[in-house]
Amino acid sequence: MRAVPGLLCALACLPGCEAPPAPKAPAPQAEPAPKAAPRALPEPAPPAWPAEGSKLSPPEAVFTPGFGVHTVFLDAGHGSPGNPGNTSCLGIEEQAYNLAMVEHLAPMLRETGRFALCLSRTATPGPDYRARLAAAEAFGAEVIVSIHSDVRGQGQPCPVPDAAKPPAARIGSSGKEAKRAEAERPHGREHSADEADAAQESRSALRMCNPDAPGFAVLCSDEGGEELARTRRELAQAVASSLARTGFLPYDGVDYEDLYALDPQTPGVFIDRHRPGRRILFLREPRIPSIIIETHHAWDPREERRFQDRATRDAFGEALAAGLAAYLAGQAERKAEP
Ligand SMILES: [Zn+2]
Repeated sequence: MRAVPGLLCALACLPGCEAPPAPKAPAPQAEPAPKAAPRALPEPAPPAWPAEGSKLSPPEAVFTPGFGVHTVFLDAGHGSPGNPGNTSCLGIEEQAYNLAMVEHLAPMLRETGRFALCLSRTATPGPDYRARLAAAEAFGAEVIVSIHSDVRGQGQPCPVPDAAKPPAARIGSSGKEAKRAEAERPHGREHSADEADAAQESRSALRMCNPDAPGFAVLCSDEGGEELARTRRELAQAVASSLARTGFLPYDGVDYEDLYALDPQTPGVFIDRHRPGRRILFLREPRIPSIIIETHHAWDPREERRFQDRATRDAFGEALAAGLAAYLAGQAERKAEP
C-alpha cells in the first residue's frame, strides 16, 4: 500500500491516541567499526551418566488418540524365600531395592491415568515366581515388567571409606587430632561404640565394587514363537530407547559373554542365551510379553548412589511410562492395519 502523508498525520494526531514515536534521526556519524567478537571458548562437554551432575531428561509419554487404559504387571524382582538377589556396593539387598523402586514407579504410572497396574508383591518375602506369573495372567496383563539391578564382572572388595575407620587407625594417637576427628564424625554417630565402627568396617569389607560395567540392560527371550518373540523384542526396544533418550547409559554387555546376545538394533537390549534348561523363567514362560529391566550395575558406586536419588527414580519412571506408551501405541496401530 502507498502511504498518504496527510492522512497518516491526521490519524496520528487524533485525541486519545498516543503519538507515534518520532522517527529516529539518522546517525550523525559513521558507525564505529564492529568490535571483533571475543573468541568463544569451547563449551565443556556436559558430564555423561553416571557422573555426578549428568543430566536426565525423559521424553514425554505420547498417548495416541483412543489409547485407552492398558494393564501392566509390575514385578519387584526376587523377594521370595531364599531369593534375596544381589547385595549392592552400598550394602543394599536387591530384593529391598527392587521393591522400593516398584513402589516409586507404580504411582507414577498410575497418575498418567493410562495404566492399570498389578504389583507382584508389596512386601518381602512375597510369592514365588510361578505364583506371580499366574497372578499376571489372572489380572489380564498386556505386559510384564520385572525390575532388577545387576552385578557384573569381577567385583573387588570396596575400599573402606575413612569415615568408617576407627579414629585411632585413621589419625594416629594424637589426642588433639582424635578430638578433631570425633567432632567431624557424622551426626548421630558421636556416641556409637567402637564395635559399631568395627561392624561398619567389616560390612564394608564384604561389599563388592566394580566401576567398569555401568548401564541399564533390558532382557527378553526369543522363545515361544515368532509373534511372541516379536512383541517381547518390541517392548524391550521401546523401553530401552526411552531410557537411552533420557540420558541413562545402555550397558555394552561385555561381561554377559555368551549368556545374552546384544540386540543389533537397539543398544541396551539383550536376548537370553543361557543354556536350555537354565533360561530365565520370567522371560521364557509367560505368553504375555515380558521384560526384565536391570536398572543399573549395583556394584558401581556412581550408579548405585544415583539410583538412591529421588530425581533419578523420577526420570526412570517417566522414561518407563514413555516407553510403554510407545510400545502399546505401536501394537494398537499394528492391530488396526488391514
Ligand atoms: Zn536380579
